[in-house]
Amino acid sequence: MTKINENFLKLQAGYLFPEISRRIRTFQAKNPDANIISLGIGDVTQPLAPAIIEAMKKAVIDMGSVANFHGYGPEHGYDFLINAIIENDFKNRGIELDKSEIFISDGTKCDIGNIQEIFGIDNTVAISDPVYPVYVDSNVMAGRTGQANQNGQYDKLIYMPCTAENNFLPDLPDTEVDIIYLCFPNNPTGAVAPKEVLSKWVDFAHKNKAIILFDAAYEAFITDPDIPHSIYEIDGAKEVAIEFRSFSKTAGFTGVRCAFTVVPKQLKAYTKDGRALEVNPLWNRRHCTKFNGTSYISQAGAAATYAPEGKKQTRQIINIYMSNAALIRTSLTKLGYEVYGGVNAPYIWVKTPNGLSSWDFFDRLLTKTRVVGTPGAGFGPAGEGYLRLSAFAKPESVKEAMERFTGV
Ligand SMILES: *Cc1c(COP(=O)(O)O)cnc(C)c1O
Repeated sequence: MTKINENFLKLQAGYLFPEISRRIRTFQAKNPDANIISLGIGDVTQPLAPAIIEAMKKAVIDMGSVANFHGYGPEHGYDFLINAIIENDFKNRGIELDKSEIFISDGTKCDIGNIQEIFGIDNTVAISDPVYPVYVDSNVMAGRTGQANQNGQYDKLIYMPCTAENNFLPDLPDTEVDIIYLCFPNNPTGAVAPKEVLSKWVDFAHKNKAIILFDAAYEAFITDPDIPHSIYEIDGAKEVAIEFRSFSKTAGFTGVRCAFTVVPKQLKAYTKDGRALEVNPLWNRRHCTKFNGTSYISQAGAAATYAPEGKKQTRQIINIYMSNAALIRTSLTKLGYEVYGGVNAPYIWVKTPNGLSSWDFFDRLLTKTRVVGTPGAGFGPAGEGYLRLSAFAKPESVKEAMERFTGV
């Protein structure tokens, strides 16, 4: 008799996006002519930069020749990409990394979902509320939590509420925690962490022998020069943090797939009897056992984002999204909304007016403006009373959406 992993039964139904689709379908059925604009998506809309297309075409041609064919590549990625990452993403910011500390993959979702496998089941995990659901669900599946309560919050997880009162920056837990998920620039709130905030977390991790899992998928959207792009810009962070980066949002790779994870050699975790062991070899073992490398074509495309033309072109695309973000911010501010984010992140976190619930505001916007956002409550209880608007839509859609907001 086959037993299932009963941890999966604790998972809450994937409620948010199916429910949004259901409400849109119902509305569209009643209003077949309604032209609905979605600012709800977390996916990019601009095509890949021409330099990336050229690099990928060349890689495809390579695959068709005996001399340049590529079969299985190294599990942790090709040197041409790893070297470009080290030079451009880290050395430029004063961070020295060794090739063995970078693991190329096909996505941050997989990496940040998988990383918990190398840590014991009895670690206490702290996450922000609201949160990117992958951090939570991967720990539920592994059995690191109890059951969910009626708010959808799991027993044994430590939730760190992020609201306007704390600038959407989680307070340090007052209990002992072993693993901390941080995401800056943040999805969904658009908040960023200044140096002193990250330093506080690095100190906390040192004191508690804890590890920070730092999701930097949106670092390329930072415009303020004082905001760190990498947690390793903080002294001592290499001893306590793993960083996740992705080409998905920074270079439009959501459909191409390429990302990487940084596991510094200095990072240690502990056996039950207190022996300190390096984490890097464990992740290396896990990665090489369960992953067979990212496609050569994807990696060639990713490497092109670091060459001068590719850099310039991907920057232009990011600027399109950030102009969208600026337009959303200024339009809504002018209309009297309380808005957060959108300066160093492609998400705008809007306080619902007159104390409306997230879903009531969602419905009101859909009915009155035919604009779709993402109800903040879907990302966790502390997201109640907010709505996420994404700057990843096409500029003309954003412009039209903002015009429709007038008079809601
Ligand atoms: C989009 C996103 C990612 C990127 O995931 P990929 O699997 O690399 O596409 C990672 N973290 C957050 C918070 C995201 O929103």
